[in-house]
Amino acid sequence: VGDRADYDSETKSICPFCGVGCQISLKVKDGKVKYVEGINGPANEGRLCVKGRFGFDYIHHPHRLTKPMIRRDDAPEKGLNVEPGNWQEFFREVSWDEALDFAANGLKGRGREVAGFGSAKCTNEEAYLFQKFIRQGFGHNNVDHCTRLCHASSVFALVENVGSGGVTATFNEIENADVAIIIGANPVENHPVAATYFKQFTKRGGKLIVMDPRGVGLRRFATHMLQFRPGADVAMLNAIMHTIVEENLYDQQYIDAYTENWEAEKAHLKDFSPEKMADLCGIPAETLRAVARDFATAKSGMIFWGMGVSQHIHGTDNSRCLISLALMCGHVGRPGTGLHPLRGQNNVQGASDAGLMPMFLPDYQTVTDDKVRAAFTGVWGSDDFSAEKGLTVTEIMDAVHDGDIKAMYILGENPAMSDPDVEHARDALAKLDHLVVQDIFVTETANYADVILPASTLYEKNGTVSNTNRQVQMVRPAVPPPGDAREDWTIQIELAKRCGLDWRYTHPSEVYAEMTLNMASLDNITWERLEKTAVTYPSLSPEDPGQAVVFGDGFPRPEGRAKFTPANVIAPDDTPDAEYPMILTTGRQLEHWHTGSMTRRASVLDAVEPEANCSMHPATLRQLGVEPGGMVQLTTKRGTITVMARADRAIAPDMVFLPFAYVEAAANILTNPAIDPYGKIPEFKFSAVKVEAADAQ
Ligand code: SF4
Repeated sequence: VGDRADYDSETKSICPFCGVGCQISLKVKDGKVKYVEGINGPANEGRLCVKGRFGFDYIHHPHRLTKPMIRRDDAPEKGLNVEPGNWQEFFREVSWDEALDFAANGLKGRGREVAGFGSAKCTNEEAYLFQKFIRQGFGHNNVDHCTRLCHASSVFALVENVGSGGVTATFNEIENADVAIIIGANPVENHPVAATYFKQFTKRGGKLIVMDPRGVGLRRFATHMLQFRPGADVAMLNAIMHTIVEENLYDQQYIDAYTENWEAEKAHLKDFSPEKMADLCGIPAETLRAVARDFATAKSGMIFWGMGVSQHIHGTDNSRCLISLALMCGHVGRPGTGLHPLRGQNNVQGASDAGLMPMFLPDYQTVTDDKVRAAFTGVWGSDDFSAEKGLTVTEIMDAVHDGDIKAMYILGENPAMSDPDVEHARDALAKLDHLVVQDIFVTETANYADVILPASTLYEKNGTVSNTNRQVQMVRPAVPPPGDAREDWTIQIELAKRCGLDWRYTHPSEVYAEMTLNMASLDNITWERLEKTAVTYPSLSPEDPGQAVVFGDGFPRPEGRAKFTPANVIAPDDTPDAEYPMILTTGRQLEHWHTGSMTRRASVLDAVEPEANCSMHPATLRQLGVEPGGMVQLTTKRGTITVMARADRAIAPDMVFLPFAYVEAAANILTNPAIDPYGKIPEFKFSAVKVEAADAQ
């Protein structure tokens, strides 16, 4: 960056990538972000990972959308790749007025034929406006976002059993813990700054128990590394809980005071002895017993989990087990204890809190409750909307195929890359009569758009975001959006007005003020406070910085009691067979983010990790006759891709790990759309796959 003191302005904001929510300082020179530094936020204390520090220059990329565009009447078929050199074949640049009129005319008056995908990349205010737009504008709840693809099952289990979808303790609370379980998560790559706190915890003697089918990075710091069979989570966790019951290690006093349904859970666990479950989960019975003893007898214990837990057809059952494990040991509600699903996107917590889900209004208030709907329509000054839960992300795509949904508004999501069995989603997008895409690049989804509205990055807007720790923080514009691109909330308001809604907001602070009227979680957290400091919700008074640990004196459930919900073992949907003998799992890499639309246009990140790749055990590669760096062909019942293979001893010989950021080898061509019945989350983490040397074809 040359002379670091040579910049024109400095703006304090929040990293746009993962749910850790690191505070950053953006240094701007000549209208461009020159470099980024970490500052002293509650979640990062000045630390940043490679994405936060070096991943910013996508905002100045020449591919940025700078003009509204409408699909030409004589455009080639939808779905073909629109590239910088050929976009005029597909779209014509238009004025904002023409684009917004066109977008609104294709949506208004269509009621249930319309659905919306909002974004966890946007601010809380934009998420709130998006769900309001669908509910108030079209009278129903067909609105969702990417939480459906990451932690919907965790949220379902948390709401069901502890009465709230947020974490019960911040990840920084690990400082006060004696033992911590990290399961189905790879924080070293996916929540790197949180991982630094986890490593520090082990340095001061904390016992770390890592559970994952992959030998993830934190194994080097672990007291126990349980590399269990993919899909065997419930068997393993039930065996651990069986031991705690059998050896009388549970906290009867806590159970009596704060929980319900314990006797049913206890009876259920009888069938899951470690000796019986050891083969199924691939972990020796004695190890399962040792882990049970370490966790149950610790003074304070925490459980962290990621999408390795949630992205299964039994994802909700996995989370139910983790909740039960914490409850039976009394490891909730005290310093150093708690349940913490590590949220993926920087604002997936906030977007979920703001009601960007088909079954919940803001603060997880159910749409089926007449009083709740009345409270919202009262504030909105509008008619009631449907009491029926809306459709989820994957259900909306099915409804398009069935002809029930014909128009969509997609803001900052990329289902043409992120949905499971992605060809199904792409075919659905192609079938729509009218698709409005609001984004910063021509994403794979925008290839199907009828109208594209050029939007803003998080570095270019005002608003608030909420991280995995429930910390509400303010984002501020360091630079303006390029060309005619606009802040998303302003586009939303213009579109809403054209769809007949009387929206008069002139600043995100006004939207935030409205949110506080029906969101108790934001009590005592005013915009003015957030301008000065981050606040963790709940905040008990205007001076309270917020509660890092919640539920010390009961739960927001009937009689203040959390619930045990027993879980049974369910086999993965797509089990390996002679034709597809291996197991495919997908995930992220340190350098790349989700569908790659941002990080693959960030010069440093793209230089470090430029090529689509998968990883498998060296013995597997030898068997295939493929050198590390050679090409392999992966085939599932949904499709085939060809991708470069790396050797990784930490992966079981019958597994393949495939990052999902690369359009040229799109992982979701292969993944299974089967969903968890409760959280409706697809089983991204388990597909039967055939692996061959590419040159053998
Ligand atoms: Fe950004 Fe997450 Fe890295 Fe922090 S840990 S810098 S929030 S990507």
